[in-house]
Amino acid sequence: MDNKVSASPRGSYRKFLEHLSGAGKAIGVLTSGGDAQGMNAAVRAVVRMGIYVGAKVYFIYEGYQGMVDGGSNIVEANWESVSSILQVGGTIIGSARCKAFRTREGRLKAACNLIHRGITNLCVIGGDGSLTGANIFRMEWSGLLEELAQDGKIDNEAVQKYAYLNVVGMVGSIDNDFCGTDMTIGTDSALHRIIEVIDAIMTTAQSHQRTFVLEVMGRHCGYLALVSALACGADWVFLPESPPEEGWEEQMCVKLSENRAQKKRLNIIIVAEGAIDTLNRPITSEKIKELVVTQLGYDTRVTILGHVQRGGTPSAFDRILASRMGVEAVLALLEATPETPACVVSLSGNHAVRLPLVECVQMTQEVQKAMDERRFKDAVQLRGRSFENNLNTYKRLAIKLPDDKIQKSNCNVAVINVGAPAAGMNAAVRSAVRVGIADGHKMFAVYDGFDGFAKGQIKEIRWGDVGGWTGQGGSILGTKRILPGKYLEEIATQIRTHNINAILIIGGFEAYLGLLELSAAREKHEEFCVPMVMVPATVSNNVPGSDFSIGADTALNTITDAYHSMLILGEARTRHEEFCIPMCVVPATISNNVPGSDLSIGCDTGLNMVVETCDRIKQSASGTKRRVFIIETMGGYCGYLANMGGLAAGADAAYIFEEPFDIRDLQSNVEHLTEKMKTTIQRGLVLRNESCSENYTTDFIYQLYSEEGRGVFDCRKNVLGHMQQGGAPSPFDRNFGTKISARAMQWITTKLKESPGKGKRFVSDDSICVLGISKRNVLFQPVAELKNETDFEHRIPKEQWWLKLRPLMKILAKYKTSYDVSDSGQLEPVRHRGGPEEPAAI
Ligand code: ADP
Ligand code: ADP
Repeated sequence: MDNKVSASPRGSYRKFLEHLSGAGKAIGVLTSGGDAQGMNAAVRAVVRMGIYVGAKVYFIYEGYQGMVDGGSNIVEANWESVSSILQVGGTIIGSARCKAFRTREGRLKAACNLIHRGITNLCVIGGDGSLTGANIFRMEWSGLLEELAQDGKIDNEAVQKYAYLNVVGMVGSIDNDFCGTDMTIGTDSALHRIIEVIDAIMTTAQSHQRTFVLEVMGRHCGYLALVSALACGADWVFLPESPPEEGWEEQMCVKLSENRAQKKRLNIIIVAEGAIDTLNRPITSEKIKELVVTQLGYDTRVTILGHVQRGGTPSAFDRILASRMGVEAVLALLEATPETPACVVSLSGNHAVRLPLVECVQMTQEVQKAMDERRFKDAVQLRGRSFENNLNTYKRLAIKLPDDKIQKSNCNVAVINVGAPAAGMNAAVRSAVRVGIADGHKMFAVYDGFDGFAKGQIKEIRWGDVGGWTGQGGSILGTKRILPGKYLEEIATQIRTHNINAILIIGGFEAYLGLLELSAAREKHEEFCVPMVMVPATVSNNVPGSDFSIGADTALNTITDAYHSMLILGEARTRHEEFCIPMCVVPATISNNVPGSDLSIGCDTGLNMVVETCDRIKQSASGTKRRVFIIETMGGYCGYLANMGGLAAGADAAYIFEEPFDIRDLQSNVEHLTEKMKTTIQRGLVLRNESCSENYTTDFIYQLYSEEGRGVFDCRKNVLGHMQQGGAPSPFDRNFGTKISARAMQWITTKLKESPGKGKRFVSDDSICVLGISKRNVLFQPVAELKNETDFEHRIPKEQWWLKLRPLMKILAKYKTSYDVSDSGQLEPVRHRGGPEEPAAI
């Protein structure tokens, strides 16, 4: 086929998927090694994308074992074979460890089985062992074919026809232990499980004054331990890459008792399964417990999380990651030539990349080697800048230097929340306060947004005041939507009175507008000529200048959770009456997770949803089996939640403001869904952003689908409402909030140091910034410059990265669409972790 090139709205030329065809190709997909949540989403994406481009896709059951055994272990997949698996943990095609594949004999059999089905493209989802195996197989391929021909198992024609094997890998591993990738499939879900447990433990330990030693997975990699320690503000963490210094026993006990003395009622110690000391001797949870009990006499419990971490439903992020990667893997296979090396598809920042498999595996093994040789500094560096940065941030936030060791800056810095509450805001405040104090500033909390600022609701806030804030939903400081414009005089007075030298604003679109107003008022009020920076925090994810905002991830998870609970409810209705009991369990996490007053709305909605749906189920003893759910999401005019929620939950359509639609689109969507529901597919999901259209309301869409689907499916609708803002923050939002705001505080410190002279005014545009992430970069962008990139009427950025993922959702829902692949990964060299060219992490 010809390269189809077409002009994008901005005039640059883009490449579309249509130039790639998979006709005549066969792809085998397998999951191998330890299982991980999100593997199913990857399998689903490979199967559907494969079929979309015209290829045949085969399931290879039970990992390499199925490939060696052949027979019914290798089966052609169709569209429906991957229906309803997005929300299922583990892998539906089974995973196994296979001794036979480690031998040439075994691989010979495997090759024979593949050839007989014409499979010369392999997509392997597994850890570094599995990927190494795949690469060895690929290197041996021609030799294996010759041997098979000699043995008379295949003919010479087949040797010619199937001369090359293409291999692409996706890393499925909860440990996040693979070099070259930011996140492996399953890691985010495992973090969800860990954080759920920690949140639960926190409540019981609070009432008993206990110390908890929590062991998490990671025999060779401390990522899960480190990031969960960061997310919950643990007292101490033990990692294989960074053993504690000699004499740690004493130090740890001092730290624990200090924390207790500060009225902290519980201690949490997190231990990676493979934690060691500087002499490579294991540090076990039992040993730590003994130490605490004998030295301090605290009531101490050990909790070993084990396989819980692999269990449960995959998080929104893992589903999106795996879906994006699955599609990318098929593209990589279609584009592969005999010269391209086997590659791994992955995300770097928010960007899809392809990396040479062999080099990634080698680098991953180097980390282990460094640990074995006790070169721990190297080990941390090889894990990458982001790992190192996580470690440094953890240390800064967990350990307070004694006051006399902190060099005073004589600067006062204010922290303020603005706009609607978003999960993760409190983590951001905590981190800003602690980093600020460590940098020698005096920190001031402003309560109730700009309104409170004007009224003088400002108080000094200390290290201990923000303890335990990471896991709290809502905004503890209080937040309001009010803009500063009306109160400029009063706010200026407060800045003068409290001698504020810099301001950190944590909030959404109002915060952004507020920053613009303050920026414009600098000429009139010199009080505003201080460094100001905002970090985006809003469920709508509509702040110009950043791909992500704090809180959006939590909201996405609420959407997928809600859909998931409805699925369970629906299924229970058609199959087992008994499911009435567990049905209540899933949505109950929504309500149980919701602390604080702001969130009682969400809690109420969650409960109502359960009760209502349960009622309906009871009332309709018999009915049609097939059902379509219409769900309305928040976000103002910004369709992020609807779109990404749709991708994560496997929606059939997601109506958003950014992509105008008319009655013809609605008609074709309804017809499309009706056709689909005539097959074995039983569930449909349609998302609608609250402001996508003035007249095509959620009710309208519900009625339209109900009417047109009559006889084929019935509909239920649900407006998710404020529960999306509430809830316990997801691990990502906690960490993102923590790290981005630490970064903002560092920026403030640097700015303040630049001009030690008292009374110095900051007037340039680059002293009033939005901090965001864009693709792979962390950027401070002057708010004045972002003005041109903003659609003020609809309160969204003019360009939104996630719109590019829209076709992906449509492809996976069986629509023909045009998919822009010019951004898809090119094979690139693996950056040596910690090298100068590695992009900065937050
Ligand atoms: P993971 O993929 O999670 O790292 P393993 O290291 O156990 O898990 O590998 C999974 C499977 O991959 C093994 O059981 C084996 O079948 C295959 N495999 C691993 N390493 C090799 C190798 N060097 N050569 C051939 N096959 C391998
Ligand atoms: P960093 O590398 O910035 O220190 P992490 O280790 O937490 O942060 O995550 C690695 C990368 O994966 C980051 O670039 C982040 O953007 C992305 N990421 C991780 N989890 C999520 C999530 N739940 N939602 C969106 N992006 C995520």
